[in-house]
Amino acid sequence: MPQRVICSGCSYVLYEGPIFSPLTEVIQRYTGVCPKCGRQLSFLPLNVDVKTVNK
Ligand SMILES: [Zn+2]
Repeated sequence: MPQRVICSGCSYVLYEGPIFSPLTEVIQRYTGVCPKCGRQLSFLPLNVDVKTVNK
C-alpha cells in the first residue's frame, strides 16, 4: 500500500512510496523544514499527515 507523508501546512508531498518510510527519515531528508512553505517539521507525527493511499 503506498504511503504518503504530507506537510499539514501546505499539503506538499514530502514522501510518497510503496514502502513505509520512518517519519524521522523523511524529515531528515528535508533537514527538518518543509521545502515549500518553510514550516518546521516535527519528528512527532503532529504536523504532518501520514496517509495510506488506496490505489
Ligand atoms: Zn509545507
